[in-house]
Amino acid sequence: MLVYDVIIVGTGIAGLNSAINIPKEKKVLILCKENSWDCNTFYAQGGISVAVDENDVESHVQDTLNAGAGLCDEKAVRIMCSEGRDAVNSLIKRGFEFDKDEKGNLLYTKEAAHSRNRIVHAGGDATGREMHLFLMQNNPHPLMYKTTVVKILFKDDRVFGVKVYHQGEFKNIYAKNIILASGGIGSLYEFHTNARTISADIQGLALECGCELRDMEMTQFHPTVFVSMEKARKQLLSESLRGEGALVVNKKGERFLFGYDKRGELSPRDIVSRAIFDYKQKHKGEIVYLSFENFEKKFFKHRFPTIYYNLKGLGFNLPEDKVPISPAFHYMMGGIKCDIDGKVSRFKNLYVVGEVANTRVHGANRLASNSLLEGLVFSKRAVDKILFNEQDFFIENFDEEKEVLFKQNDKTLKNRLRALMWEKVGIIREKDGLQEALHRVEEMLKLDIGKLLRLRLLTSKEIIKSALKREKSLGAHYIKE
Ligand SMILES: Cc1cc2nc3c(=O)[nH]c(=O)nc-3n(C[C@H](O)[C@H](O)[C@H](O)COP(=O)(O)OP(=O)(O)OC[C@H]3O[C@@H](n4cnc5c(N)ncnc54)[C@H](O)[C@@H]3O)c2cc1C
Repeated sequence: MLVYDVIIVGTGIAGLNSAINIPKEKKVLILCKENSWDCNTFYAQGGISVAVDENDVESHVQDTLNAGAGLCDEKAVRIMCSEGRDAVNSLIKRGFEFDKDEKGNLLYTKEAAHSRNRIVHAGGDATGREMHLFLMQNNPHPLMYKTTVVKILFKDDRVFGVKVYHQGEFKNIYAKNIILASGGIGSLYEFHTNARTISADIQGLALECGCELRDMEMTQFHPTVFVSMEKARKQLLSESLRGEGALVVNKKGERFLFGYDKRGELSPRDIVSRAIFDYKQKHKGEIVYLSFENFEKKFFKHRFPTIYYNLKGLGFNLPEDKVPISPAFHYMMGGIKCDIDGKVSRFKNLYVVGEVANTRVHGANRLASNSLLEGLVFSKRAVDKILFNEQDFFIENFDEEKEVLFKQNDKTLKNRLRALMWEKVGIIREKDGLQEALHRVEEMLKLDIGKLLRLRLLTSKEIIKSALKREKSLGAHYIKE
């Protein structure tokens, strides 16, 4: 029987950076649901935060802790900010090119709640796409596309592999170690910025095999998203636009954010999200815009080419036109609880890295552009741990029974769940609304449904239960008292 040394689930930054750090002699298999680029990493625009020099590490730590509102694990934060410099330098040494000025110096930009410019970027606003391509080109291991993990095979305190659904068939794949790098939960919400593959099924599977999810109430909403479009994934207007001068204005062109926070456009994203949400509610749904009046066209096109062309395709002429914006779900701070090497305590050989993991590095609110960094730093740590800690492996056989993944009414119920999560478990929460949401999710779980919807519901239930438990607002979790 073929047994891999490591199975990696996910082809985002966390999965692929795990892969490139495992020697090619090892037997590694990488799995992803659709195409490799169908992941949040591919869509990351703004960049990756990194301490500018050794002296800046402490300030990066403090900015991260401040954004995290007291819920961060300081040790994890210190690891991310200090090892982040090596992680980014190691990409540069391998040949990755961040944007530079004419003299060849790295260009650092600023994003909300960073006390200085420390975000490096590539391809202007195409950092994620450039990194994804680079990591794919440097990956020495085989990759199986269009493969959905539908079960984690485990017995007692060991995992033995995964059951996958691939080209209409179920198959067990065995491995000595598993790294889950399957990303967040975007498509649980009606409005979100995430890739279509990001649907919280792995979090549901983790619950099924007894792993703990932590901080699941900490869901981050991005303030500046163009939501009036057909696709499930809505068009994000990067934080760095505001960092470099874009303004949030009402229909008369007036800036109103200073009425909510003295930092105006540079307030942390949860404050800006709630301000826009509140402003729209108080002004009968008045449209709020992002204005680019401070930008010169040539600079805008060069600095934000992806946004420029994506919005051109949607009929906007930037920077002249204002774009209507609304907040949308963006990032999950909570996840499968793990230690600073990504290890899940429930099992001897299961690791989680990237957005699916919860090291508490983001606490109650993620500082902008810290997630790509988290993916780089903690995937390397997990791999080092696996390579250093080789364990005896014995084989267990598991059945290859079919799972019923979908049932007839699932699509309708899935959309109902999305609307429910948006309305009752969204930007501003109320205890009654959360209780109603919990009740409705529990009722849906009693219906005759397929496994994938069941997994979404299990994860949603965990988010709602965590939100109910936290009775006072903190960070991204805002509850009306
Ligand atoms: C529009 C957008 C812009 C962003 N901009 C930035 C930014 O500028 N800077 C920053 O730091 N962060 C940014 N973020 C956040 C950041 O991109 C993500 O947090 C990060 O890329 C997550 O990486 P990951 O490797 O954990 O997961 P992802 O990149 O999301 O990859 C998840 C992978 O898991 C696979 N998968 C999921 N479930 C299964 C399953 N059941 N079976 C098999 N495979 C599965 C998927 O197919 C995919 O390959 C942005 C996010 C979005 C959505």
